[in-house]
Formats: sequence, C-alpha cells, structure tokens
Amino acid sequence: MKEGDRAIVVRSHRFAYRSNNGHNTLHCEQLSLSALARKFGTPLYVYSSGMIRERVHTFDYALSEVPHTICYSVKANSNLSILALIAKLGSGFDVVSGGELERVLRASRTAVRKTVFSGVGKTREEIQLALRCGILLFNVESESELDCLAKSAEHEKKIAALAFRVNPDVPAKTHPYISTGLRKHKFGVPINQARRLYRKAAASRWLKPVGVSVHIGSQICDVAPFALTMKRVADLVQKLRADGHNIQFVDAGGGLGIDYRNGANNDFAKGAASYANALLRPLRDLRVHLLLEPGRAIAGPAGMLLTKLIYKKRNGGKTFLVMDGAMNDLVRPSLYDAYHEIVPVEQRARRMEKVDVVGPICETGDFLARDRRLPITEEGELLAVLDVGAYGMVLASNYNTRPRPAEVLVDGRSVKLIRRREKIRDLVRSEVQK
Ligand code: PLP
Repeated sequence: MKEGDRAIVVRSHRFAYRSNNGHNTLHCEQLSLSALARKFGTPLYVYSSGMIRERVHTFDYALSEVPHTICYSVKANSNLSILALIAKLGSGFDVVSGGELERVLRASRTAVRKTVFSGVGKTREEIQLALRCGILLFNVESESELDCLAKSAEHEKKIAALAFRVNPDVPAKTHPYISTGLRKHKFGVPINQARRLYRKAAASRWLKPVGVSVHIGSQICDVAPFALTMKRVADLVQKLRADGHNIQFVDAGGGLGIDYRNGANNDFAKGAASYANALLRPLRDLRVHLLLEPGRAIAGPAGMLLTKLIYKKRNGGKTFLVMDGAMNDLVRPSLYDAYHEIVPVEQRARRMEKVDVVGPICETGDFLARDRRLPITEEGELLAVLDVGAYGMVLASNYNTRPRPAEVLVDGRSVKLIRRREKIRDLVRSEVQK
C-alpha cells in the first residue's frame, strides 16, 4: 500500500482507503465497501467499472500503431454486465464454448462480428452456432476440427474464416496448469505442420485461412516468451504468404500476467507498453491486423472479494480466521496455490498476527491464505481479497451446497447488482427427486 495525498491506494485510485465518519474505510471508486457489504451481504464480488475501462483503453493505446482488435477473453470473467461494458468500448471477444458465445450474443449482438472462437474441443453444434451468427475467426486446433469445420460450413452454406492456433513450443514460465505453448500440451497444432494444414484448408471452397493464432499460457509476467513466439509466428506468416495464402490477421492470444504481490505499485501502462513492443517488433513490416485476447490483465485487478470473519480459533499453535468466503467462492489459492493480497476493510493502527485465512468447507485445502501476517482481526470484521476479478467467480462452485456469491459493479457513486446471490432453491432446481 502506498500513501497518496488523501487516500491510501491499494489498487490504482479505484480501490483506496478513504476517511468516512472518522473511519478509514476501503472504497471501490466512491463507495465504501462496508456499506456495500451491509446492502448486498457477504461473500460479495465487487468490481470497478472504471478500472476495466482504463485497462481496455491502456491496451488500445499501447497497440495504437497497428490496426488491432482487443478480443477480451470471456473465460476470465463472463458476467453479462462486464461483457456489455467491454463491448461498449469497441472490443470483441475470445470464446471457448458455445455457452460463452451465447453470453456474447446476449451482451452485444454487434460484438459477435469481432469474436474469435478458440478451444480444442469445439463440437459440431457449437461450430454451427458460430457460423450462423457470423463470428470473425475460428482458431482451429486440430486437423479433425478442420474437417468438422469444413463439413459444418458446407452444411450452413457459409464460408468459415479461420486461423490455425499454432503451438510454437515456447516455455512460458508460469504455473504448469496454465502453460499451453509447449509441444507436449494438448493445445494448437505443431508449428512445423502448419503449412500442410493451411494448404488443406485452402483447398476447400468453404474455408478461408486468413490468420495465424497462438496462445502460450496465462499469468506470464516476462515479455521474452511473447517476443520469441511472435518471431516464430511472423516467420510462419511470411512462409504462408509465399505459399499464396492471404494472411491478414495475427491473433497473439492472451496471457499477460498481473502483479498479485505488489499490485499497489504496479504501473500497468508501462507493462502494457513493453508487452505491446514485444509483440509488435516482429510484426512491424507484415501489415497484419493484430488480435489480442487478454482476460486476466483487464479483469483481474478490477475485482475484490468481500468476506466476513465468522469465527477465530486456535488449533495446534495456529490461528485460523474462518471466513464466510471459501474455496467454492474463490478456488485459485487451493487450485494453483495462488497468492492474493488480503486487507481489512476498516483500517486502523493495530498489531499484526500470523494466520491461516480459511473457509467453512470440509477440506484442509479450503484456504484463501496460509501463514499470512495480517492486522489482528475481530469476529464480524470484513476482509477484502484483492485481484479476484479474473478466474474468480467463473470458477466458483456449489461445493458443500453453498450458494455462489452476489456480484456488484461500481461506477463512481453508483452500484448495480449484476448477479444476485444464489438461493438453495437455485441449487436444487435441476435435480430430480424420485
Ligand atoms: N486466449 C486463450 C485461447 C486462452 O486459453 C486464455 C486463457 O488461458 C486466454 C486467451 C486469456 O488468458 P489471460 O486471461 O491470461 O489473458
């Protein structure tokens, strides 16, 4: 956290402690998080519209020297109101399922034309839906998928514009579960088979190979793997053009990481500029339209999870804060051992203590933080878990028959409920009792 003139900033000026009736309370934009917790209950996902807008604009600015489209990766946070907000900024989307495409259709009909469809297991039904609604590009990930796309396009009497997602065999220095660009991974087609596959695609009158696509993984904070990948992609584009293909698009995928440990001091504009430079340098003379699929870098720091301390207990020399938010609400710490900063909503001078921040779920793996030094917290107090706007709510589950949290979107002084809290009846609705 860093001292500003009036407020102590935790994430840009959108999340900061502001003085309020003698209390120093964490705010999202102009609204106090304790007031939001009173109004909407906890656990609660709170998003800042301003930060999402700012981050989309920052990417746009960083890429301004080339024609480009930002195709926000829906998987990071697929709430319809967030998609509508991003569509209004002129962005398109990256989807990986028919369900995500349906979300885009609901959020913005026009953005569908700026939507790319990635994923290793697109079904025929999903492909037909995408053909009917006229997406921009299929990112094809195997020869079998190419055959299915050709048949589906013929059936729909629509020409399918496609890129192959090539696997550049570049290590991404990230968690092994979210690294995708090595030869041994299930994603994409080997880059050395690409020319044969483009030839095959071009032979079909229903297919139009117009791009090359990559995505080497997620939460990548070093730009060197992106630069190496784009160099390999640029070489391929030149070869494909020499083979007679009209390659107009390069889809650089997503993957730019965020600083979960030092977010308050992170300069996103600088990071986006160096990322853009790494991508653009190899592409400069190619005159391609660049597509980018960021997810985490747009939505991650724009969201917080508000959670209340139910009980404090000591076991075996450890102090546990048992919160009302658990691994079903935010699975990243349990799944990836991910670090999320946690701060009290009310700031005051107090001593620190080492605690495990856990939820009520019957799993030892149910934790939000372990061995974390936090200001001494009392039962009933609120904590905010930071940087949960991406891969937070989308990965939430109903494990232990826990209704998923509500989500709210703050814009200046106004707040909208963008997903109501689930009720038990929502959870059992599709079950059949015999
Ligand atoms: N594009 C594709 C094909 C992906 O699989 C992913 C996520 O892994 C993304 C984009 C978004 O990645 P990130 O959220 O790291 O930007």
